[in-house]
Amino acid sequence: MAENEEDRHLRLSGSYDCDPSPLPTLRHSASHVMAQAVKRLFPDVKLAIGPAIENGFYYDFARSEPFTPGDLEKIEAEMHEIARADLPFARRELPRAAAIALFRERGEPFKVEILEGIDADTVSLYQQGEFEDLCRGPHVPSTRHLTTFTLLSSSGAYWRGDERNPMLQRIYGTAWPAQEDLDRYLWRLEEAKKRDHRKLGRELDLFAFHDVAPGAPFWLPKGMVIFRQLEQFWREAHDARGYLETSTPIMVNKKLWEESGHWEHYADNMFKLEVEEQIFSLKPMNCPESTYIYRHALRSYRDLPLRISEIGRLHRNERSGTLTGMFRVRQITMDDAHIYCRPDQVLEEISSVLALVREFYAMFELTPSFKLATRPDDYLGTVEQWDSAEQALHDALKANEVAYELKPKDGAFYGPKIDIHIEDVLGRDWQIATAQLDLTMLPERFDLTYIDSDGTTKRPVAIHRAIFGSFERFIGILTEHFAGAFPTWLAPVQARVLPISQKHLEYGAAVRRRLAEATVRVELDDRNEKLGYRIRDAQLHKVPYMLIVGEREAQAGTVSLRHRTGEELKDVPLDRVIADLSREIASRAVALTVGRM
Ligand SMILES: [Zn+2]
Ligand SMILES: [Zn+2]
Repeated sequence: MAENEEDRHLRLSGSYDCDPSPLPTLRHSASHVMAQAVKRLFPDVKLAIGPAIENGFYYDFARSEPFTPGDLEKIEAEMHEIARADLPFARRELPRAAAIALFRERGEPFKVEILEGIDADTVSLYQQGEFEDLCRGPHVPSTRHLTTFTLLSSSGAYWRGDERNPMLQRIYGTAWPAQEDLDRYLWRLEEAKKRDHRKLGRELDLFAFHDVAPGAPFWLPKGMVIFRQLEQFWREAHDARGYLETSTPIMVNKKLWEESGHWEHYADNMFKLEVEEQIFSLKPMNCPESTYIYRHALRSYRDLPLRISEIGRLHRNERSGTLTGMFRVRQITMDDAHIYCRPDQVLEEISSVLALVREFYAMFELTPSFKLATRPDDYLGTVEQWDSAEQALHDALKANEVAYELKPKDGAFYGPKIDIHIEDVLGRDWQIATAQLDLTMLPERFDLTYIDSDGTTKRPVAIHRAIFGSFERFIGILTEHFAGAFPTWLAPVQARVLPISQKHLEYGAAVRRRLAEATVRVELDDRNEKLGYRIRDAQLHKVPYMLIVGEREAQAGTVSLRHRTGEELKDVPLDRVIADLSREIASRAVALTVGRM
């Protein structure tokens, strides 16, 4: 995020360019005030750049040693001084050459370098108090508007993000209109740290990463349970909707990629191998190969729509420095499908994709939002084709009664698309699913045809769609969304039986057996440890249900039930526990309901 923002600032003109909406403006102004405070306290530092970013701002400084937490405290206190002083932000314009001379005289080599890279004749500067910076603005009228801000951290960052350049010291901060916004943001940061899927993946034995395979997880048995449950759910839903599951090769001759155009446009992202003097690559997507399934037989209008699905393992060559846990991987297991249909079937097919998306996300209590991206300036096909395709997407969104945001000219060059985002429990936005209409790429490049009712040969339309996006990323998101406390149907261990003491092991074993027979994933904790210790352990592993059994329970054929939420229910008949648990798992419910009325 920060890097993109930085690129944008440097690319546009070399001077800062900011979203004029209030929050980014506030944050950008905060970054100037921070630079002012730093200059007051550390007059020798050199200024690089300081944009607003999502949720905050940063500024990069050239300084030989890193800033300490104590330094940040002093800087923040100085910023409050500056805010209280109510200094107006004043703009002036200078010829570029004059600005270069000015910043050279002030000993600011990074500003000089930025200015030398701009082709504008005039540039603008902003001043508050004694501090002046090269900047396009806009800014708040005065420093007094900065009331609620805090500095978060500092770290090294290369000038212009390039490791051949000098290392700078970046300070991150955040600014908000009101204290309650700041408090909520800091809570979210704290919560996100606790929920980090890399940390939880380790603690809950779900998955691990090792240097021998950067960007590809090792799925541990417990993580694999989640993976398999999602696959099973996915397969059931797709079988019920007439999808035909296929599997296509992972390693394919480069001829295929030349035909699809990927070799020309995407080769840098592909892993290549030489086999018997021919070049092969690991597939970065399933699309071209799905056309081989389509072309396996002569298709007539009656065969369409043809919904070809594939849980395909893809590889994309992301730079090792950009890999982050499950969110940025090199190996992707995509829940892909390509729907080949007649143009008159597009509305219905897209509509059922949207219905499926809503159904899937509701299962996880995730709220989807939709964005419709339309014809870009550079497009393949005819305007008529595009107009009717866009109309079909629009109608499908309407038919599903979903509000959507329009993103004009943001479609792919081969067709319009609907991007689907979700918001998790911390209010974070994730782009997950997509449904892309493909008017020309697969159909024309691979010469796909069907025989229409009038006997003529026609081209089908292809719809590319994914719902989870990738299993890796989706499981990473779910892990953080649920903070590791997965719904019972996904939980690697669904119940743990805890005999009160070693005297009750026999009944405990019988209870475990009964649950296992009902296909519940159950463990017996027969360790000779205090009950309180074992309860805490089950809690830490986020096991949904603890079944505590002693003398009384053994006599009555009951259990003392404890939900991982802390709720306790005494004397619940074992039959009742099994019936409720089975129902909760079968319905894939999110809430814990066992033993409740
Ligand atoms: Zn600025
Ligand atoms: Zn595709």
